Amino acid sequence: MENYCENLLDYVNNQGTANEANGLMEHLHVCQRCQGNIDLYCESLELMQRDFTIQDVPGSLIKEILDFVFEK
Ligand SMILES: [Zn+2]
Repeated sequence: MENYCENLLDYVNNQGTANEANGLMEHLHVCQRCQGNIDLYCESLELMQRDFTIQDVPGSLIKEILDFVFEK
């Protein structure tokens, strides 16, 4: 198991390699703790985006994660 739990937001923010992104998505499917963290992170992202446009938030992985988190 990679140490996604500790470096979750680093992986999200840096996107990493395709392999790492895939691993992260797999990890999210099995790790309640990281799902909770992503929930919090996305909530704060949404709050921020209400006030100003974030240019440097990576698009694709964030979107994948949002889709995953909110498809429930
Ligand atoms: Zn985790």
